[in-house]
Formats: sequence, C-alpha cells, structure tokens
Amino acid sequence: MEERAALLARVSAGHGTEIKDPATGEVIGRVAFGTPGDVAAAVDTAAKAQPGWAALDDQERCAALMRAADAIDAHAEELAYVVSREQGKTMNGLGARYEAAGCAAWVRATASTPLPVEVLVDDGQSRAELHYRPIGVVGAITPWNWPMIIACWQIAPALRMGNTVVQKPSEYTTLTGLAIAAVLNEALPPGVLTAVTGAGDVGDALVRDPRVGKVMFTGSVKTGMKVIEASAGNMPRLTLELGGNDAAIVLPDVDPQAIAEGLFWGAFINNGQTCAAMKRLYVPDAIYDEVVDALAALAAKIPMGVGLDEGNVLGPLQNQMQWNVVNRLVEDAKVRGARVVMGGDPDAAAPGYFYPKTLIADIDNAAPLVQEEQFGPALPIIRYTDLEQAVEWANGVDVGLGASVWSADRDTALAIAARLQAGTVWINSHGGIDPRVPFGGAKRSGYGLEFGVEGLKAVSVPQVISG
Ligand code: NAD
Repeated sequence: MEERAALLARVSAGHGTEIKDPATGEVIGRVAFGTPGDVAAAVDTAAKAQPGWAALDDQERCAALMRAADAIDAHAEELAYVVSREQGKTMNGLGARYEAAGCAAWVRATASTPLPVEVLVDDGQSRAELHYRPIGVVGAITPWNWPMIIACWQIAPALRMGNTVVQKPSEYTTLTGLAIAAVLNEALPPGVLTAVTGAGDVGDALVRDPRVGKVMFTGSVKTGMKVIEASAGNMPRLTLELGGNDAAIVLPDVDPQAIAEGLFWGAFINNGQTCAAMKRLYVPDAIYDEVVDALAALAAKIPMGVGLDEGNVLGPLQNQMQWNVVNRLVEDAKVRGARVVMGGDPDAAAPGYFYPKTLIADIDNAAPLVQEEQFGPALPIIRYTDLEQAVEWANGVDVGLGASVWSADRDTALAIAARLQAGTVWINSHGGIDPRVPFGGAKRSGYGLEFGVEGLKAVSVPQVISG
C-alpha cells in the first residue's frame, strides 16, 4: 500500500457499502452507513464531554485547536489522497492539497481570532457587558464538494467557543469526513468531536435531537428548507450556507486577456462544484467576442483527468446525480440555440463522471443553464447591451451567495457592487475567501455568517451582564 493511503485504509470499514473513485470507478473502501438510531448515542457522547470542554479556558481550547492544525499538516498528504480518491478533485491546482492546507490555515485562524468581552455601556452609572457563552452540542452537516474544509469551518469555531460537535458528513464523501475527524481527534480530548455516518435521514435526526442546540448546515437550498422545518420542534439555532447562482458582470473598460484567468478559475474552481463559484457571466456586447475567445483559449490549455495524475488540475464530477444535472442543462441550452464554444460533448461510455470544460455563448438569460445552479464545469456567457439590464438579470434569481464586478474603474465597480443582492461581492476576482472575513448568503442562499469574529459569535449564546 502506498504510504499516503494509510489514512484511507484506517477510516474504511471492513464491510458495508463500496465507495468508488469518481474518476475510475475503482473501489477505494467501504463505509458502514449509520441510521437515525445512531444519532442519540453520538449526541450522548458529545453532551457528556461538553461541560469539561467548556470548563477549559479559551487559551486551552485554542491550544488544542493549534495542535489539531499541526495534526492536519502532519497528515496533509494522506488527507489530500482521501479527498482526491473519494471526491475526485485533483491533487494539484485548487484541488486536494489546496483543500488540506486550507483546513490547517482555517483551524489556526479560528484559534487566533480574538473575541474580547464587549463593554456596551460604562458611563459611571451603569455598566453592561456582552459575553459569548457556549451553546452546548453543535450538529455539523456538510456537503460533498469541499468535504474537509467545510467540516473544519463548522467544527473549529464551534469547539473554540466551548461547544462539542457531532459531525455528519455527506453520504457521498463519508470517508473524507471520517478522515478529517480522525486527524482532528488526534489532538482533541475524547468525546469533543464525534462523527455519525449516513444519508439525509441521519442528518434529520441530528437536527431533531433535543440536546442539539445549534445546527451548522451547508448544502442545497432544498435541504436547507427541510432543516428549517425539522428545527421547529426544538428550535436549535441555525447557520445555513446554501446554494448559489453567482453572477459576474464585466464592464466594457476591462482588458479581456488580463481578466481571462480570473474569470476562468472563478467559474471552474473544483470543476464548478463550489458554492460561490461564478455560475453566470454577463459580458457587454462591445467586448463580448474578445472575452469569449480569451476564455476559450485559456480553458483549452487546462488539463482535466484522474485526480492522482500530478499533471491534472481539473477532475471528474463527484457523482452521477451532478453529472446528470450538468448534462441536462447543457443539452437544453443547445436545443434553445445557444452557441457551444467548447465542450458540451461528454463521452458517456468513458469511465468516471467526467464532463468536459464547457463554455456556452449567446444564451438567453431565461435558459435553465442560467437560472439554475449547474454546480459543474459549464459556464453560460450572456451578452448584454444595457448595464441596467445586466444588474437586473444578476439580481433576478432567488439566491444570493456571491457576485463579482470586473472593471478598470474602482468607483464604478463599487457603485454596481452596492446594488447586487449577494452576501459577498468581489471586484476583479471571484470566490476568494479569507478566514478573517465573514462569509454568508443573501436571499435563499441562507442566513448566518461563518469565519472571523462573526463566525465565532454564531456558535455561541450572547449573554449580557448588566450592573
Ligand atoms: P445536500 O443538501 O443534498 O446535502 C447536504 C447535507 O445534508 C448532506 O450531508 C446530506 O446527507 C444532508 N441532508 C440531506 N437531507 C437532510 C435532511 N432532511 N436533514 C438534514 N440533513 C440532510 O447538498 P449537496 O448536494 O451535498 O451539496 C451541494 C449544495 O451545497 C449546492 O447547492 C451548493 O451550492 C451548496 N453549498 C453551499 C455552500 C455555502 O457555503 N453556502 C458551500 C458548499 C456547498
């Protein structure tokens, strides 16, 4: 066995469901999926461990998180190997090694963010302070696209604030979820982080458990709505990081060659399977052909293939379900007469869930490829002549995670950014995140914030001490 495969072997069960490499179909391990009945025991463990963990002072919890980040670094290549084999992303580029390094960086940043007591009033007559207390047990439910780092985004702040965590990875990336939990647990006291496996019914049981005081949920809008419904019984607090359909608006004053790379990776990071990837590109008539040509020339040079091959920087889609979504939307665009600039011609007989890099030009804004979240490597490029129309189109969907404006003039870009209905608007880039900067959605992309001080506050109960 390859040395870096040791962690994958460690978290694979000897029996249960076969897990296949999405690039090759090869069996890489087995998972014994849990049932809703397993949730109570996991929550028990977390509930018992919580008072002791909360009793540590903040510095001690931060020190444990720092050791957890060191453990991630020590196992970085093994973690990257697991996620590459199970999720499909390439080892290189903005892929598996990048995700593993991001996990360590985020855990460290979470342990380094100061959260002092806020003195709200101190006028000689009265004094009011705002403290942030632990909630108790946090349920952490993750999707399959960035399965390690999203788990860290949920787990690290929850632990920092004195909560314990029950984590439920996506059923599509269970081995990766178990792997990151195993590595974090090398540095954490027993019971502080527990993983349960299984599908949506297990997630639902976690949301409904009366001892869970907070649910961190990252996934689709549809499931997010179910989580809201399921939470009505016990009212756990919710952070919902849901789907997006991010628009990018290019202004006529840009240099198409200069922005092509930023546009490409904004859209194709992780093969488009990224919540805040650029999913619709609005380009003015005056430079439309130049932008499309520059993107196509760049895209043609980007190697796609099996994730373990060091030369590749884009891999397959993670699963058949997502492949079908992308294929349906592109086929529909073709029927509507949109222009296929490149791609759109998958080889259904080839092994794995590969879908080629696809650029679709001259597409109507009303087409489903524009209006729905494709979550894959197929970018619609919509031509506009009136900037007001482009802003209206950008805002014309029911989600609002990210957006971007591309212009040589910062003031113009800022004025447009202020009008876009999205949790983050990037200027001359798309999708970059930073552990110091809060991240969250507008509209149906969810509510609540992750990262930075805001992210810490979101996994705690504010308490006012007055007098
Ligand atoms: P999904 O909603 O199908 O699943 C997410 C998780 O929820 C999985 O662990 C799943 O088992 C669980 N689940 C399913 N039904 C449940 C229920 N009734 N109760 C509780 N949990 C349940 O999403 P997915 O397909 O895994 O992920 C893709 C989606 O996630 C995309 O829409 C993407 O945009 C979104 N996403 C958002 C962010 C963000 O930060 N906003 C980040 C990554 C992905």
